Amino acid sequence: MKETLYLVIPCYNEEEVLRETSKRLLEKINKMIDHEQISENSKILFVNDGSKDRTWDIIEELHNSNCIFSGINLSRNRGHQNALLSGLMTAKEYADMVISLDADLQDDVDVIEKFVEEYYSGSDVVYGVRSSRKTDTFFKRTTALGFYKVMNNLGVNVVYNHADYRLMSKRALEGLAEFKEVNLFLRGIVPLIGYKHSIVEYERHERFAGESKYPLKKMLAFAVDGITSFSIKPIRLISFLGFGIFFMSVIALIYSLVVKFLGKTQIGWTSLVISIWMIGGIQLLSLGVIGEYIGKIYNETKARPRYIIKDKLISNKDEKINEYYGQSKENIFK
Ligand code: UDP
Ligand code: MG
Repeated sequence: MKETLYLVIPCYNEEEVLRETSKRLLEKINKMIDHEQISENSKILFVNDGSKDRTWDIIEELHNSNCIFSGINLSRNRGHQNALLSGLMTAKEYADMVISLDADLQDDVDVIEKFVEEYYSGSDVVYGVRSSRKTDTFFKRTTALGFYKVMNNLGVNVVYNHADYRLMSKRALEGLAEFKEVNLFLRGIVPLIGYKHSIVEYERHERFAGESKYPLKKMLAFAVDGITSFSIKPIRLISFLGFGIFFMSVIALIYSLVVKFLGKTQIGWTSLVISIWMIGGIQLLSLGVIGEYIGKIYNETKARPRYIIKDKLISNKDEKINEYYGQSKENIFK
């Protein structure tokens, strides 16, 4: 039985890579259609995440040249996770299975067949896992490792070395649609959906053109979001810290009273200054963490839309012909 596959690719300022990416993906999809692995309604869906360059124009051109290329255009830049979600939720209406990947083809497209095989053997979610991080800079490698460690220690279930290269079945996507959170961290949500999953290993390449759209600032924000959206352990940690400090201050109080009664009141101001700074620091830190969660509550209660789709270019072969026919008829009447 041949089922319909959609590839979903979020794109932000990717004019430099789109031509090559579309060419390689088209070859792949056509090969899979020829081998009767997937149905001929399968498509490549680009999501334009409010790019400032010609990305959307290129997507339109691609769609006009071959309707296997589809596109949705977001009203403005909403960030990778939201762009990806908009693509997944759109693809869910048409596809039986959806694979998400990056526009720069850092993820090895040759494992797409393996993803699909896993799907046919009953997996609803297939995670692409990087077998090594050779192509990453030392900095990215160590920060990423630290991030996974922290996440796991905080009790957040994330698949190690898995980015957003994964296959999801229609029903897994329907599950995902039930998660209404605004602070989106897909890697943490997908394992919560459940169903049978499997893992496919692949080698990650370097970006072949353009530069990373994830500068350090965005990476840090992403990590903080990931932790605070899934774990309340930092809040608990602060309570423990508070208890500890309280305990210490009681001891300090007794100590200073004893010293006072012994008549040795000439105590240096160093300890005083240090304690003021320390307590001030801890209070600020605590307020910061609490503020982080309150910020989350604030955003969630507003329940704002996570994305708004401006244009949609998806057509099946027959519709495309009708559209074309309609146009030419109009021209005749002119
Ligand atoms: N991306 C996006 N919106 C953004 C930033 C990135 O849609 O605001 C897309 C980008 O076009 C790419 C993917 O997310 O397809 C991953 O970004 P990138 O390759 O720059 O990240 P890295 O691989 O360096 O982590
Ligand atoms: Mg990349």
